[in-house]
Amino acid sequence: MVEYLREQIDSYFTERLLKKVIDIMSHMKDINVSDASRFSGQTPKGDYTFEFVQVISGVLALDQNVQHDVLVMRKNLLKYIKVKEYAAEAEFLDPGPSCILPNVACSNCDAYRDLDLCRDPDLLTEKEWSCADTQCGKIYDREQMENSLLQMVRQRERENVAHAGSSVH
Ligand SMILES: [Zn+2]
Repeated sequence: MVEYLREQIDSYFTERLLKKVIDIMSHMKDINVSDASRFSGQTPKGDYTFEFVQVISGVLALDQNVQHDVLVMRKNLLKYIKVKEYAAEAEFLDPGPSCILPNVACSNCDAYRDLDLCRDPDLLTEKEWSCADTQCGKIYDREQMENSLLQMVRQRERENVAHAGSSVH
């Protein structure tokens, strides 16, 4: 199983994520970064491509069996967007703003929960992310969470495009 996962990360995930990174970069070209940071009220933190790579790598690296492979994947993706792996801005755990994945549903007991991917103590200690209900404890569907993350990134892209558009008169 571990072998399979490693292979998946080396081939499937790296390839898919690289495509996504290229996709985001092409959208980013049209976005005025200073506008985006003004609307979000944050100082510019590099671009969204970088944040995307950080968040996805962070999620995948929670499985310690494949941590090394995820680091290699992350290194390759960062190389593509020209961020040096050991640059200060490439800190693995960003103590900055949190990243909340809202309304993660349990497929077993229908409980909903917002997951703070950067700070939720459950996510930092558990090997697999699971339902908070002690009666249930069902492990969350990883693919579903990854899809939600992708949707969040797309949503932010759209918002930024809309903001950039509305500031042009
Ligand atoms: Zn549950």
